[in-house]
Amino acid sequence: MQIGEYKVETITTCRFGLDGGSMFGVVPKALWERRLPPDENNRIPMVTRVILLRRQNGSAVLIDTGMGAKWTQKERNMFAIEDLDLPAQLKNKGISKSDVTHVICTHLHFDHAGGLTTYKGKEHHIHGPKKTAATPKKTEEPKEPITEEVTPTFPNSVHLVSQKHWQWASAPTLKDRGSFRREDFLPIQKAGLLKTVDPGEKPMELLPNIFIEEVHGHTPGMMLIRIDDGNRGIVFGADLFPTRYHLKPNWNMAFDNEPILTLSEKTKILSQVFKNNRIIVLEHDPDIEAVRLTDESGAFREISLKS
Ligand SMILES: [Zn+2]
Repeated sequence: MQIGEYKVETITTCRFGLDGGSMFGVVPKALWERRLPPDENNRIPMVTRVILLRRQNGSAVLIDTGMGAKWTQKERNMFAIEDLDLPAQLKNKGISKSDVTHVICTHLHFDHAGGLTTYKGKEHHIHGPKKTAATPKKTEEPKEPITEEVTPTFPNSVHLVSQKHWQWASAPTLKDRGSFRREDFLPIQKAGLLKTVDPGEKPMELLPNIFIEEVHGHTPGMMLIRIDDGNRGIVFGADLFPTRYHLKPNWNMAFDNEPILTLSEKTKILSQVFKNNRIIVLEHDPDIEAVRLTDESGAFREISLKS
């Protein structure tokens, strides 16, 4: 789909699974398990789907990067991670890592920001850093990986993050500390590639035809991204609308920091999207790339950006 100067497409960078109860909060299991049947560990199937915006001159903008590849085998098993190698997929489309001029981060939870950094010296690392003789035994390993071992995946890119969210991610609370991995984003700052933005209360045009708007119920300063040329508009739902089932205003994640705020933000955005006939891209839906709403309550029909 063409919007303004961009050819807009999505890339599925990873398949993984999270606990269904965490993903649906107070919604009874009897209701959600019929829609997304969980595996033997109660995990529902999910993907990380990112947006690629290609310009005529070969350069590109990415919105989010998915889980990335900095996972140990134990973590891969825990989250049922199947990495689909974003850099390799970009390469297949004729885009090198240095062609990416901007990475816009909706927020820095690990399933959105994991691909921002890569183990140093590794083209693409599937099983974590190689153990050397000098590597301490397992029991002596530090709890958190050392950020010096990783490097920005897109070395020519400006990385755009909400100022409010950056502050939050840099000092997370006990509730959401497990959702942030500092090796995903501190090396970006260290390399001088970070640009924080503060859109304030209203949507802000970040780049031509790319607008950002903050919502705060999931995590403070999460950015919804809208690609819009006045004729066509796509909203990247991030964790406000992770799957098609989360289009219902009251089907929300237990991860949300302020559930009541999420509810009112969803109601407002659904109304805007419906009235303007915009498309919502679903970042985590295992089956559906995007939807158009058929009413303001979150009813939808499936669409493809290829059409
Ligand atoms: Zn999130």
